[in-house]
Amino acid sequence: MKRVAFFCIPAHGHTNPMLPVAAELVKRGNTVRFYSFDEFKDKINATGAAFISCDAYLPELSEQEKAGLKNVSTTEMTVQDIRITLGMDSYLEEEFKSFRPDVIYTDSVCFWGKLNAWKHHVPMVVSTSTFAFNQLSSQYMKNTPKEMADMILGLPRVSKELKKLEPYGYHVKGALSLVQSDNQTDSIVYTSRRFQPYAESFSDHYAFVGPSVFSNVVPEKTKERPLVYISLGTVINDRPDFYTKCIEALRDQNVDVIISCGNAVNRGSLGVLPDNIHVYPYVDQLDILSKADVFITHCGMNSVSESLYMAAPMVLYPQTSEQKAVARRVMEIGAGTALNDDSVDGIRASVHEILSNSDYGKAAEVCSTDFRSCTGAAGAAEFIENAPHASNGLDIIGELNKTTVRFHFIYWAITVAVIMLIGFLISWEYVWIIGIAAGILFYPISRVIQKRKYTSILHKIQQ
Ligand code: UDP
Repeated sequence: MKRVAFFCIPAHGHTNPMLPVAAELVKRGNTVRFYSFDEFKDKINATGAAFISCDAYLPELSEQEKAGLKNVSTTEMTVQDIRITLGMDSYLEEEFKSFRPDVIYTDSVCFWGKLNAWKHHVPMVVSTSTFAFNQLSSQYMKNTPKEMADMILGLPRVSKELKKLEPYGYHVKGALSLVQSDNQTDSIVYTSRRFQPYAESFSDHYAFVGPSVFSNVVPEKTKERPLVYISLGTVINDRPDFYTKCIEALRDQNVDVIISCGNAVNRGSLGVLPDNIHVYPYVDQLDILSKADVFITHCGMNSVSESLYMAAPMVLYPQTSEQKAVARRVMEIGAGTALNDDSVDGIRASVHEILSNSDYGKAAEVCSTDFRSCTGAAGAAEFIENAPHASNGLDIIGELNKTTVRFHFIYWAITVAVIMLIGFLISWEYVWIIGIAAGILFYPISRVIQKRKYTSILHKIQQ
C-alpha cells in the first residue's frame, strides 16, 4: 500500500480527471492526500481521499493579474504558479516530513507538485489533462499572434520569478522544463492511443488510460426530438453574446437545447427564453452528453473526451491554441465540424450539418467504443502504484533529435556554401536574399524531414 500525494492547480478541467484516479487508489487500499482548493473540497472528499486546503497560499491578485489569468495568459499563469510554490514551501516541507509520500501525482502545469517531487526526491507521475505534447504532436498547436506576444513579452518577468526559486532549493533550467514532459517522465494521459496524435512517438513512460470519467452511463439517444447541448467550459465562458446567438439560432428549431453558461453570465441578460431552451450556470455534463445529439463546445480536452465517450458528435468552437489542437483531431476522426462562422445563421447551419449527416455520430460511436476499452482509472492507479517505470522500447524522439541535429548541420552548411559560391563567382550584392529564403524555408523543410523519419521508424517497428 502506498502513500500518494496529489497536487493540482485550481481549475475544474485539470482537477476533474484526477478524481476517479484518487477514488480508485483509495479503493485499492492506498492512502491519498489531495492538496487542492476549497472550491473542489466536496468533489475530492467524495473520492475518499483526504482533502488538504491550500487556499491560504493563493496570492493576492491585482486587477491586471486577475485579467491575465482570466485570459489564460501563459506568462501570468507561470508567474502565479511560481508564487504559489514559494508561498507553500515551508508548509510542504513539513508535510513531506510527516506524510512521507511514496509517490507524487501532480498535474502537468502544477509547479509546486513537480518542484517538490524533484526537491524531495520522490517518484513523480504527471497527470496530463490535454494531449501529450512533444515536438511532433505540438505541431497540432498553432499559437495565435496574441499568445506568441504574451510569451515573448513575458519572458523577462518569468525569468525574474524563476530566479526566486533557487534559494529555496528548487533547481529549474527554464520555464519550458517545468511545463513540458520528456520521454523519461512517467505520465498519465487521459485519452486513447488512437485519439492521441503521434502516439507511437511516446515512450513506455506514457500511459494512455482513456478519458477519466466518473460514470458508467451508456449513451441513450432515443427521444422525441434532438438535444443540443452548449458549453464553453469553466474558464473562458463569460460569453453572453455567443449564448444569445445560439438562442436566436435554435429558438424556432425542432430541437431541445441546454446551455451551461457558467457563473459569470447573468441569465436575465439572455432575454426571455423560449420553451425549448434551458440555461443553467453548471450542469451534470456527462449525464446530458449521454443523451445529446450535438454538443457545441469550446473544445476543452475534458469536454471533448466526455462527448466522444458518450458518442455525441460536436460543433467545434475552439478559442485557445490548445483547444484548436483538440478540434483539429476531432475533425480528423470525423466526429465534428468547425464553427467557422459564429453568426446566428452559421450556428444554425452547423447544428443541422451534424444532425443531417449520420457519419459524425458514427465516428463518435467508434471513439466511444475505443475509449471504453481503455484501462481507465484502474490502469492509472496501477501505473501510479508501480512508479517509477523503466522504458524498454525505442526512444523515437531521441532518434528524431539525432536526425534534426544532422539536418541543421547539413542545411546551414549548404546555405553558407551557396552564399559563398554566388558571392565569389557572381556578386555579393544580393546574397542576403538567399539567407532570408533559407530562414523562411527552414521550418517547413525540417518538419517534412521529421515526418518522413517518423514514418520510416514506424515502418521499421511494424516489420
Ligand atoms: N463541466 C461540468 N458542468 C458544466 C460545465 C463543465 O461538469 O456545466 C465540467 C466538464 O464535464 C469538464 C470540465 O467541467 O470535465 C471542463 O473541462 P474542459 O477541459 O472541457 O474545459 P475548461 O473548463 O478547462 O476550459
